[in-house]
Amino acid sequence: MKLDRLDILHTCIPLNQTFRTSFGAINEQHSIVVKAYSDGLVAYGEACPFYAPVYSYECIATMTAVIRDFIAPAVLGRELGEPAGPGYAEATDFIKGNNHAKAAVETALWDLESERRGIPLWKLVGGTNPKVDVGVSIGIQPTVEGLLDKIAAYLGEGYRRIKIKIEPGKDLDTVKAIRARFPDITLMVDANSSYELSHAELLAGLDGYGLLMMEQPLAEDDIVDHAKLQSQISTPVCLDESIHTPEDARKAAELGSCKIINIKYGRVGGIRNSIRIHDICRAAGIGNWAGGMIETGIGQRFKLAISTLPNFVYAADIETSDRFLVEDVVTPDIMHVNGYLDANTDYRVDEVKLNRYTSEVTICRP
Ligand SMILES: [Mg+2]
Repeated sequence: MKLDRLDILHTCIPLNQTFRTSFGAINEQHSIVVKAYSDGLVAYGEACPFYAPVYSYECIATMTAVIRDFIAPAVLGRELGEPAGPGYAEATDFIKGNNHAKAAVETALWDLESERRGIPLWKLVGGTNPKVDVGVSIGIQPTVEGLLDKIAAYLGEGYRRIKIKIEPGKDLDTVKAIRARFPDITLMVDANSSYELSHAELLAGLDGYGLLMMEQPLAEDDIVDHAKLQSQISTPVCLDESIHTPEDARKAAELGSCKIINIKYGRVGGIRNSIRIHDICRAAGIGNWAGGMIETGIGQRFKLAISTLPNFVYAADIETSDRFLVEDVVTPDIMHVNGYLDANTDYRVDEVKLNRYTSEVTICRP
């Protein structure tokens, strides 16, 4: 496969609610959508760290610069082979890190291949089960009562798993209150690195509450302390921000830093690396699931595809179109039925809607 042209689209879609995590609050979703042209076909990729470099060192501005100045010149007009092969990785290997930027282009290659061969993405990535469980991630709420009401509402919508964000001061009592009202639901917590190893005793206090997992309690760059923590608590630790490469996954497995890894295709540089991390985890007995960055429907398609891989054994954070966005850019809208999504659904990009939310376009040619 050869790319004839790449358009870098900066999209910004208002949210229908404020999303609050320990990183801060956001009211609009910024993303980089890559429109890739090859041999008469057009396809779309996407990745979105937040607008500001708060989740990783990448942000919308760095992604645009890295794709425009380094990735596009390295890949345009060059034979890249199939996306499952090493062609794209070899062409972009000279660029250190910048995985979201790499993923925005790489996912477009998978979409192109899916179009070219007429095969749905989930089959192309090697998926085995197109029926995907979806969970819901709830941001930090002003009051516990408000959180309980939100949980009740999402359970009513059929979500298979509830994830809440925790931070120091909003943890043990919150979980206790949830369990008092919902003793049997599948519940997990995400700390987004807001704790330190010195909190181990406090975090061990969550052991009795049957949590599915505790996501990324400690620092983003620290899989050593995560291994120490995992040895002191029985709740499975899930790593998110710490895992950027297949090598990170291998090292975390060897150290015993976690029992679960959340694979975000953007954070790890795309679909091919997601599959490689999946394979490493599967061999090591570490379960996977797909986390999200509030992608548009374009990116949700890739999360849905990798969630059909056999080691994705926990419900995915695949947001329905109306979950956060005032409007999505794919049709049909992404809607779960009783907490399941069907990866066979053919979500197409709606160009009119995409243009409506595109604030800047950078066109790259060979
Ligand atoms: Mg997380």
